[in-house]
Amino acid sequence: MRDFEGKVAIVTGASRRIGAATALEFGRRGASVAMTYLTNKDRAEALGRQIEEAGGRALVTRTDVRERSDIRALVDRTVEAFGGVDIMVNNARILHPRADFLEMDWERDMWPMLQVHLAAPFHCCQAVVPHMIKRGGGAILNVLSASFRRGEGELHAYAAAKSALRSLTLTLSNDLGPHGIRVNSVSPGVVETEEFKTRRTEEQRRQVVTATPMRRIGVPEDVAAAIAFLCSDRAGYITGEDVVIAGGRDNPF
Ligand code: NDP
Repeated sequence: MRDFEGKVAIVTGASRRIGAATALEFGRRGASVAMTYLTNKDRAEALGRQIEEAGGRALVTRTDVRERSDIRALVDRTVEAFGGVDIMVNNARILHPRADFLEMDWERDMWPMLQVHLAAPFHCCQAVVPHMIKRGGGAILNVLSASFRRGEGELHAYAAAKSALRSLTLTLSNDLGPHGIRVNSVSPGVVETEEFKTRRTEEQRRQVVTATPMRRIGVPEDVAAAIAFLCSDRAGYITGEDVVIAGGRDNPF
């Protein structure tokens, strides 16, 4: 299926896991993909080569999403290389250590989370929307997390940032609909990654599996497939939605 032929997608944080699987999915389906990394240059470049071998086009760029100038340069380079932007996936993230609320410090704990998970998508959207309007439409996809829906304790900074990004998803979907731009989000549950395998005991993994109706832990490709669907023309009448990808575990009412 090469349903993204002629489309240009930007994926932030594409050097690993969900971002990498998403960039590869777009590439395999014919898109030109601008993919960013922060520190994992070799992995990002290897993925770029994989996309080209699969028949897509890849532009691999080091982008620190905390820097507005980096975001502007990323979008300029993408437009220069591929002629425009159709899809923006805000995926980059930093880890979210659990913290006791009374011991938290705004600058140390809250601000970095808001910067990467809210300010960065805000600036990415501001940079790409004029290009999407020029193309007559587009799709923006924000990657959230099922944990913010649960109000999981000790995840104050991460949950607050992702909740705010959910609100931005909704307000943008209202404002940008008339331009043919759809704005959606996905909320993955636990996703099996190398880190997850090493950080959790067998017993903890078993508990997650037992609590999940689909009886398995998610993989990055599960999330990538849903992102690709929401960004595809087949989802042309879907906007402002949040799709939970958690094997039935965190389904909203
Ligand atoms: P990873 O932690 O594996 O990767 C994070 C990516 O973000 C990397 O490519 C990293 O680049 C990049 N990055 C980090 N800081 C910056 C920065 N300042 N500027 C630009 N890029 C940066 O992510 P996951 O695949 O685990 O998660 C992807 C998304 O899915 C996130 O939004 C996360 O919140 C969400 N999610 C993940 C879940 C999971 O279980 N994994 C569950 C629920 C939601 P580099 O490696 O090059 O340094």
